[in-house]
Amino acid sequence: MNMTLHVTDACNLACKYCYQTRTPEAMSEETARKAVDLSIAASVASLKCSNLCALSSGNPADIASGSTGICFFGGEPLLMRQLILRTLDYCSSIHKETGHRFNFKLVTNGTLLDEAFMRVVDENGIGLGFSHDGLMQDDERIYPDGSGTAGMLDAKMQMILAHQPEVMVPIGRWCMTATRRKLLPLKAAVNGLEGGRQRRRIGRRSGLSGGDGARWTRSRSAP
Ligand code: SF4
Repeated sequence: MNMTLHVTDACNLACKYCYQTRTPEAMSEETARKAVDLSIAASVASLKCSNLCALSSGNPADIASGSTGICFFGGEPLLMRQLILRTLDYCSSIHKETGHRFNFKLVTNGTLLDEAFMRVVDENGIGLGFSHDGLMQDDERIYPDGSGTAGMLDAKMQMILAHQPEVMVPIGRWCMTATRRKLLPLKAAVNGLEGGRQRRRIGRRSGLSGGDGARWTRSRSAP
């Protein structure tokens, strides 16, 4: 089973097209743990039985047979970094105890990614997803003071590439608020990264969102 944890409504950006309702609500660690437990139970159920009564068997063999996908989402989920770290620890302890497998994703605006968190990404095999509006990035995805984020994101991309030198750029409908005005310059930007060659391939690692796919490497993204 795949589950999205909407850990916060808060965000440190003020994108012009943002649809996110801002509230002070944030997910507690207890809720995150319960959601993980529920997701494991559902994963095991989908594999092992159609009888919901079996969910409560607690049999390690049953738990070990499943896998669970968890996506951290917001708002900006890295505002809840401690919650994410503790949830990863919780999942790790379950894996050590039962063998149950997890795969993780994080949909972020990229601003709060740093070396320390990239090590967490590496250790846990977290797939990163973030939006890049191509030539519109500085115009559309802005800080509350109105300044753009293109330079910041370029630096983050280089940091990510240092950790994941052969990442794939999944260009799909995954996490983008798509408009024609945004898609056309984004496609042009991706074509530039790819040297004009389009490749339809969806990767599991860090990425942009748009309409097609392209391999993104340090040499192709370097200015
Ligand atoms: S990064 Fe996402 S949640 Fe934050 S302002 Fe932009 S669109 Fe809204």
